[in-house]
Amino acid sequence: MKILVMNCGSSSLKYQLIDMENESVLAKGLCERIGIDGSVLTHKPAGGQAWKQEAPMPTHREAIQMVMDALIDNAHGVIKDTDEISAIGHRVVHGGTYYSESVVVDDSVKEAIRDCFDLAPLHNPANLMGIEACEAAMPGKPNVAVFDTAFGMSMEEKAYLYALPYEYYEKYRIRRYGFHGTSHGFVSGEAIKMANLDPKSAKVIVCHLGNGASVSASVGGRCVDTSMGLTPLEGLIMGTRSGDIDPAIVQFVCAHEHLSVDEMLNVLNKKSGVLGLSNGISSDFRDIDEAAAKGDHHAKIALEAYTLRVAKYIGAYAAAMNGVDAIAFTAGVGENDKVMRKNICAYLGFLGVEIDDVKNDVRGENRIISTDGSKVTVLLLPTNEELKIARDTRALTEK
Ligand code: AMP
Repeated sequence: MKILVMNCGSSSLKYQLIDMENESVLAKGLCERIGIDGSVLTHKPAGGQAWKQEAPMPTHREAIQMVMDALIDNAHGVIKDTDEISAIGHRVVHGGTYYSESVVVDDSVKEAIRDCFDLAPLHNPANLMGIEACEAAMPGKPNVAVFDTAFGMSMEEKAYLYALPYEYYEKYRIRRYGFHGTSHGFVSGEAIKMANLDPKSAKVIVCHLGNGASVSASVGGRCVDTSMGLTPLEGLIMGTRSGDIDPAIVQFVCAHEHLSVDEMLNVLNKKSGVLGLSNGISSDFRDIDEAAAKGDHHAKIALEAYTLRVAKYIGAYAAAMNGVDAIAFTAGVGENDKVMRKNICAYLGFLGVEIDDVKNDVRGENRIISTDGSKVTVLLLPTNEELKIARDTRALTEK
């Protein structure tokens, strides 16, 4: 069974074709600049060279047609006919309160995705465009929507409600949704298997530390709390996002800098985080690490503040669950930065966390990095959102 995984942005489309017999990636690629001049497809068959093709892609429909053509191309293709594709799995950012699990797309699902446009105005319209383009390009094939917010839907009211007038929740659906849910769900499930924990009761904290970053707490695979909120702005310090701040700062800065709220939100989303804290050095941790190593004070403080914020969330979530069995690190920083992992865990001695420096000296592979005597199992677990989308798609469509 072969499954096509799609992740559509407003002007881009990422894809992977996965053979579910052995969960291997047959080909992957990217269409960029959809709807603007200079559209280009980059297609890479497994073990082969990347192949670039420039052609007009006024909409996602033309982009998907190019992907289909590339997949069956004589020279660069990996299948003979698109009929070999059994189903298509789509990343959809927001499912609102409609979906706590992945779902086969029908008209009501498309309506629900549309109904959540105001909750994810940059992503949901593009996700829906991708689904409709696949329906047109491959009529009759099942499409599955895998929601980034689904994992957070198991939170209880005490965790998802904000302490605001309740009517805002009723009128505008303002609540904590959480994002990166596909990653948190995948990694917490793998952590339970790898640490040999009871799948019904395991208390797991996942730290998804990439350019965007979030922490989740789950008991028996069900999310009980997560750090991103109504939008991905809340929680950890990120590459360019502030994470938690005193909300009154918005009014204060708007008044003094003569900014609109929209402009201030742009600052909080694009100019803050480690980029802001480092006084503009970079949003990329490799640059911040390098500057800190050379003695730059701002870079050093950015790293220390980032580390402290992650550690505080882990401590809070351990309290929320009355314990923690496993802590897993994933995504760009979590998978690659051994110093960051060690420094975060240095705060967690009170939980009985003990890192093994030799085991921690690793990048991007599944590994337990805590000592045998550590009271909490700490793991490095590369995330694989595409595989999770493919697995859900298979489970919902296999006859
Ligand atoms: P992601 O959003 O998961 O793709 O993560 C991207 C981020 O991972 C980059 O912005 C970098 O800050 C970080 N990253 C990647 N490689 C390294 C590394 N070797 N050391 C530290 N940070 C890294």
